[in-house]
Amino acid sequence: MGVNQPLGDNVVVTSLDMLVNWVRKSSLWPMTFGLACCAIEMMATGASSHDLDRFGIIFRASPRQSDCIIIAGTVTKKMLPVIQRVYDQMPEPKWVIAMGACACSGGVFDTYSVVQGIDEALPVDVYIPGCPPRPEALLYGIIKLQEKIMNEQNSFGSAFGIGERVSVA
Ligand code: SF4
Repeated sequence: MGVNQPLGDNVVVTSLDMLVNWVRKSSLWPMTFGLACCAIEMMATGASSHDLDRFGIIFRASPRQSDCIIIAGTVTKKMLPVIQRVYDQMPEPKWVIAMGACACSGGVFDTYSVVQGIDEALPVDVYIPGCPPRPEALLYGIIKLQEKIMNEQNSFGSAFGIGERVSVA
C-alpha cells in the first residue's frame, strides 16, 4: 500500500516568479557589441571551445532583440552616447555586464578621453576583472548574472506592469 499518485512524478510546484526567472536566465540574448581587446575574448567565449549556446545565450544584432549588454572594452567619452542609445533601445528587463578592467574602472587609461567605469552611465549587474578576462572569467560572470536573475522578485507581476522587479543581491 502506498499513496496513490495519479500523475506519477510529473508534478512540479514552483512560484510564477521562479518560473519567469528560470526562463529569463536560460535565454539571455546579449547585444553583439564590442569596444576593444576584451571583445576578442568575448568572441572566443561564444566560439566552439567554450560554446555559449549551451547556456541558451545567442548574440543578437539588434538591441531590440537583446536583454543583456556586455561592455567589453575601453569606453571612450566619444563612444558613451552611442552605448547609452543602444542600451535605451533594449527592452526591459535588461542586464549589464562590465567585462574587463577598462569597462569596470577605466583600466590603465586614466586619461581625459576615457570613461572611468561604465557604471557612471549604466546600471552594472556584474563586474568581471582582468585585462583581459579569459573566457572562463566571462562564463563565471554570466553564471553569477544567472544566479542574480534567479533571485529577482516580482518578475511575473512586473511583466504585466504591476510593480517593479526587485533585485536581491
Ligand atoms: S581591460 Fe585590457 S584587454 Fe580589456 S579592453 Fe582594457 S586594455 Fe583591452
